[in-house]
Amino acid sequence: MPYIDTHAHLSDESFDIDRNSVIEKTLNCGIKYIFEILCSPSEWESESLFSNFFENFYFAYGIHPEYAGKFEQSSFEILKRKLSNSKTLFVGEIGLDYFWVNDNKNEQKSLLVSQLVLSKEFSKPCVFHCRNSKDSSHNAYKDTLDLLEKNWNYNAVKRGIMHSFSGSMEDAFRAIDLGLYLGINGTITYPKNSSLREIVKKVGIENIVFETDCPYLPLQSRRGTRNSSESIPEIAAQTAAFCSFSQAKTIETVYNNSLSFIK
Ligand SMILES: [Zn+2]
Repeated sequence: MPYIDTHAHLSDESFDIDRNSVIEKTLNCGIKYIFEILCSPSEWESESLFSNFFENFYFAYGIHPEYAGKFEQSSFEILKRKLSNSKTLFVGEIGLDYFWVNDNKNEQKSLLVSQLVLSKEFSKPCVFHCRNSKDSSHNAYKDTLDLLEKNWNYNAVKRGIMHSFSGSMEDAFRAIDLGLYLGINGTITYPKNSSLREIVKKVGIENIVFETDCPYLPLQSRRGTRNSSESIPEIAAQTAAFCSFSQAKTIETVYNNSLSFIK
């Protein structure tokens, strides 16, 4: 059974020295498709980095919340062009990030809402990024979910992915009710992350997809090193083991969940 990495940043400069060989190794590990996330205007021309592997790559284009207030309005015209490309699966990653900066919430929210309009206009699902402030007093999950429930009128059975899920049990079920899969990555192997393991156990394999978020978020056994899409089989194996799911059933179900976005 093959795998899909639903969230990679292989255009990152840390892959400049060996990108093609990393991708070759990844494909040899059984990863059939990679969803590459290009989430700032400066990254939107990076598809050409993957031209040797055209049939294995799909793309998300969007403006990440950390760029709120830091891009030209004309970028939206370029974004629209990117969203009409047949290799584009998602608007993303978009959302709210209160971890480093939370004094520009209105600016972040209006950037998110304007991209929800594009999701509807281009009939594309979304990849969402949410991160609470360190002490959780600024709750990006609650604000994002409130906004989606009110402002997102793109209709589909599955409307996207809540990437690198790090919210509460309540956030998880609200996301699932909105038609989102929870994106599960190497953070599920971190010793302190028992809450995520409990959530995945509860929501089950029907509601998750696997991702790496590489070069970020390596598995616990490789912390401090550059992550790559090659770690997907290990993420799948560890998730199944932690949650006492059948390995084979987990791999098959999650593959099909991810594949549902490729039309
Ligand atoms: Zn990402």
